Amino acid sequence: MTKMNPKVQKVLDRILESFASGDVPEALTIVTLPKLDVPCSEWSLANRLILFFSGTSDARGFRQWQTAGRYPKKGSKACYILTPRHRKMKDKEHDEEKVLLTGFAAVPVFRFEDTDGEPIDRPEYPPREMPPLYEVAQRWDIAVNWQGFQGNAYGYFSPGRKEIVLATHDEQVFFHELAHAAHEKVQGKLKIGQDWKQEIVAELTAAVLAHLCGRKTNDGGSYRYIRRYAEDAGKDVHRACLSVIGDVGKCVEIVMQTEEEMVVVV
Ligand SMILES: [Zn+2]
Repeated sequence: MTKMNPKVQKVLDRILESFASGDVPEALTIVTLPKLDVPCSEWSLANRLILFFSGTSDARGFRQWQTAGRYPKKGSKACYILTPRHRKMKDKEHDEEKVLLTGFAAVPVFRFEDTDGEPIDRPEYPPREMPPLYEVAQRWDIAVNWQGFQGNAYGYFSPGRKEIVLATHDEQVFFHELAHAAHEKVQGKLKIGQDWKQEIVAELTAAVLAHLCGRKTNDGGSYRYIRRYAEDAGKDVHRACLSVIGDVGKCVEIVMQTEEEMVVVV
């Protein structure tokens, strides 16, 4: 077994202790960023989530962009949203018209980021001050972008696009996604989707990082997050945490090492 950095070990122990003693606050408030006043704000939750996971908070069809004086850049790919298809039917028995849902059509839309042309008014989402450890993401060539909250995920890490997308300025959420990025570095590859082990590693790593950065963590939120994933996998919370402790130590260390390397002595 590899030895863990004692500083990391101490913080992790403290977090696990507070979990075990049930000494965890219940309140969890994540203040999310507002949605933009753009056409897609009116779309269904499913379609807004498609956009969120495509890394944009503004996507429109070709014609919609045209009326705004913009056009898709050469070579940019469309994302597809789903729109319901209806058909009018005559109900002979009651002599009235009925509208039937006959299925869904995939409609191509383009992300704002993939268009050019007239500038449009866009609110600034990035925080005034970048979160601690932001430079670690930069060092790993991972872009960090902020977007309006679409009603589901607070953030995610896309290994394919090398991008962290956040729908909140809450530092804990950034730490969680940075932890996923660290886990990918440690393991070489992540499982696709919400894997219970990966989620627990990310949330515990985030809690340790927050402590090391001198931030107060929302231990209650972390605890409930971890408990949900552990219980869904049929595990006891404490045991689940212990089973991933080795990975957590490695993730914290790779982040702190990167941070330390950047402290250049002039
Ligand atoms: Zn996660």
